[in-house]
Amino acid sequence: MQSTTPDAVKADAAQWFEHHWDPELPLGRWWQLLADAGLAFPSWPQGFGGRGLSASATKAVIQARRDAGAFGPPNGVATFLAAPTIMHYGTQAQQAKYLPQIVNGQDLWCQLFSEPGAGSDMAGLATRAIRDGDEWVVSGQKVWNSGAQWAKYGILIARTDPQQPKHRGITYFLIDMEQEGVDVRPLREMTGDAAFNEVFLNEARVAESDRLGDLGDGWRVAMTTLSHERDPDNVGLGETAAFGSVDLDVTVNDHRSALSSKIDGFSLALSGGITKVLDDVTRQFDALDDPITRQRMAKIIEMRRTSTWSGMRTAASAKSGGQPGPEVSTLKLLGSELGRQIRDVGLETMGPHGMLYGEDAPSGGLFHAYSMFTPAQSIAGGSDEVQRNIVGERVHGLPREPGEKEQRELPWSELPRS
Ligand SMILES: Cc1cc2nc3c(=O)[nH]c(=O)nc-3n(C[C@H](O)[C@H](O)[C@H](O)COP(=O)(O)OP(=O)(O)OC[C@H]3O[C@@H](n4cnc5c(N)ncnc54)[C@H](O)[C@@H]3O)c2cc1C
Repeated sequence: MQSTTPDAVKADAAQWFEHHWDPELPLGRWWQLLADAGLAFPSWPQGFGGRGLSASATKAVIQARRDAGAFGPPNGVATFLAAPTIMHYGTQAQQAKYLPQIVNGQDLWCQLFSEPGAGSDMAGLATRAIRDGDEWVVSGQKVWNSGAQWAKYGILIARTDPQQPKHRGITYFLIDMEQEGVDVRPLREMTGDAAFNEVFLNEARVAESDRLGDLGDGWRVAMTTLSHERDPDNVGLGETAAFGSVDLDVTVNDHRSALSSKIDGFSLALSGGITKVLDDVTRQFDALDDPITRQRMAKIIEMRRTSTWSGMRTAASAKSGGQPGPEVSTLKLLGSELGRQIRDVGLETMGPHGMLYGEDAPSGGLFHAYSMFTPAQSIAGGSDEVQRNIVGERVHGLPREPGEKEQRELPWSELPRS
């Protein structure tokens, strides 16, 4: 496909989907076809499952795919966190080793950043990595690691030099989760699901060739990962986001119907699929004739449009070397608020039915599963308070928190820890 105007790109993509889309294909085969054609993640560089297309041309491809009713690319920590970070900082060998199996959905990944004593203050992390020949030996505890029980690899940050100030002694690694020394224990959430875990690392091994970025530069690499996490613009989320193991041998049709019948609050929040559920709920309860509900629905639609508006992202990314900048924190804040607005309109519309939980609740319980998940949206990827600090300090240039400057200069080993 040589054309580059969005209309021409869309026409070419539409032709491709007409020839190739077949819901009876095995899921893995379909994802491989998308990857080989560069239509899985069209904005990614050629050779990495993309075509290096602009934002508007990418949207045109996605529209062509949706018009064809074709299923989207794989999605999860692998595609929206690991892949962009590996593309930005990885060596050619790392990119060749990991990206093809991310783009075709074969390998699931998890993110090993947070620790019991280091969430918002992630730079205070205590997991240690000690060099041993051509390897690193990693010990410590991580927590809240989404999908770790299904992941083949993890993106990991660990302390490699405790004598350096806390932000400078951290290094970023790509760790094999399927090894002795990695113990994953699922945590049950108030939604009833167990999407995230605690992960105990007990002398786990990482090859030196799986260090991502420079020694001691892990904080900067992790900030790139987090800026992608806070950016809601993620190809494919609308159709394929779901936490769980994926069977690549089932047909796309079977995978798709399993997704729609067994969706959890986490996936609904990520996918934006909740808007449709809210729409169904307001219709079911005849609430659209109520002027106040209509007004609140209009607000939700506007907020969603704003959150996917690319102007903010483009400006931020231009300043940050093509990566989303600190300005994306405003979009993350908007996403949290949007979730709360949707929850409140839906539950209030249902009246007493809003108090139910389970499959016999309105919308088969989907709306309630989402409602229980909404508090998590203002915590995952950095809490709302932390996003406000980022916008204040890094976008508006306000002074940092009292005492932070001193803390940034002391060796990590001398910092007080609870
Ligand atoms: C659904 C979900 C999925 C997650 N998935 C992952 C994952 O895959 N991998 C991973 O590594 N982590 C994951 N996390 C963890 C997440 O990144 C942390 O929960 C988050 O960074 C907050 O850290 P904490 O829970 O330790 O809270 P704390 O840092 O202990 O914060 C407690 C409270 O204090 C406030 N606070 C803290 N510091 C400040 C400050 N400086 N100024 C103002 N207020 C402050 C916070 O806003 C919060 O309200 C996930 C979390 C959730 C909810």
